[in-house]
Amino acid sequence: LSEAREGHVISSSGADVAETPSDLDARKQVLHAVRVLGARSRNDVATATGLGRAAVGQRLTELSAAGLIEDAGSGPSTGGRPPRRLRFRAEAGHILVADLGATSIDVAVADLSSGILAHRAEEADIAAGPHRVLERVESLFDELGREVPAGYGPLWGIGIGVPGPVDFNAGRPVSPPIMPGWDGHPIREQLSQRHGVPVWVDNDVNIRALGEWRRGIAMGHGNVVWIKVGTGIGAGLISNGVLHRGADGAAGDVGHVPVVDEGVVCRCGNIGCLEALAGGGALARDADMAARSGRSQWLADALERDGVLTAKSVALGASHGDAVCVELLQRSARLIGHMLATVVNLLNPSLVVIGGGVSHAGNLFLATIRETVYRRSLPLATRALQIELSGLGEDAGVIGAATMVADELLGAGLDLLPASVAAAG
Ligand SMILES: [Zn+2]
Repeated sequence: LSEAREGHVISSSGADVAETPSDLDARKQVLHAVRVLGARSRNDVATATGLGRAAVGQRLTELSAAGLIEDAGSGPSTGGRPPRRLRFRAEAGHILVADLGATSIDVAVADLSSGILAHRAEEADIAAGPHRVLERVESLFDELGREVPAGYGPLWGIGIGVPGPVDFNAGRPVSPPIMPGWDGHPIREQLSQRHGVPVWVDNDVNIRALGEWRRGIAMGHGNVVWIKVGTGIGAGLISNGVLHRGADGAAGDVGHVPVVDEGVVCRCGNIGCLEALAGGGALARDADMAARSGRSQWLADALERDGVLTAKSVALGASHGDAVCVELLQRSARLIGHMLATVVNLLNPSLVVIGGGVSHAGNLFLATIRETVYRRSLPLATRALQIELSGLGEDAGVIGAATMVADELLGAGLDLLPASVAAAG
């Protein structure tokens, strides 16, 4: 499997016979069918890929020789000889991931199906710059590397999520507004030199969209909008089964759509951005004003007790029935709903997933977003639209980063959307 370390996992074990693109494509399709689509028998694989039985058999033999697929015994018989069951060997290798937030580092070691084997989370300041932050990531990687359970294969790849735009092909952040010192930093080169494996970097919202799509509530949907409402606001877009990164990695930067043309200056330098009015930072700021001006006794008490107000304070106040907190949350949700209505009209997703810290603010927040989107979008675009909270919870970032690595490494890519998935989406 040394080939895998160089990024061609599924290349043939035969040495000097030139591979045709169609051989490689067929192997990718067969692996994708078992790994992602859940094909469990040769018939399933043939149905999912459209390949003939002989071709499927040959590719399975190759993938099994590469240690990626194994025979998991007999399946239930449907009359006649019971079919052999196929299984993707998620333990063939392992992946190290780090999800860098504005104020946190999450690192994990995962198997090739994005199953988390060990996880650490701690506070950190992204503004401390790449050298200090990545040094900490490295020592956490060293710790986690020692916790890979027996029976797992070697390190195959590394995935990093960052809270800003990324040039995905180069593996570098591009002009990230809240990451001073990181612009153009060669994250990929730095980590791949030390570990000798391929490294992928993407923004934190894109990886969450990917993770939700492979392992969360977005499974089977081909058109998904994953919106993160935390301190900032951003969206990951899956369109016709492809993660849409845009020409420069800035797609989905919906936190900076203009909502009003006066008032608050956003951290991007513009005035009246959605994020500056509706994000977690905006909720904290408005709560602080309401506490100090005497408009909300509940918030004034919370400020005195906790020393600082956050979006969580507002959510807690709303759950206790404080009118100002309810109003702040509803205003934030309405502004986000208006933006989402535009996105829904533009992309016609079948699912909108809401994640990030503020998404836990309670039913009122989700209900107000839903009500606004359904009221403001075109009826055709909302006929089958679902709007749900993320199902991945605290692990969303590390699961997403592992998913990015597995998808890139195992070659299926996102351009391969078989008919069975397209139909479900
Ligand atoms: Zn802005």
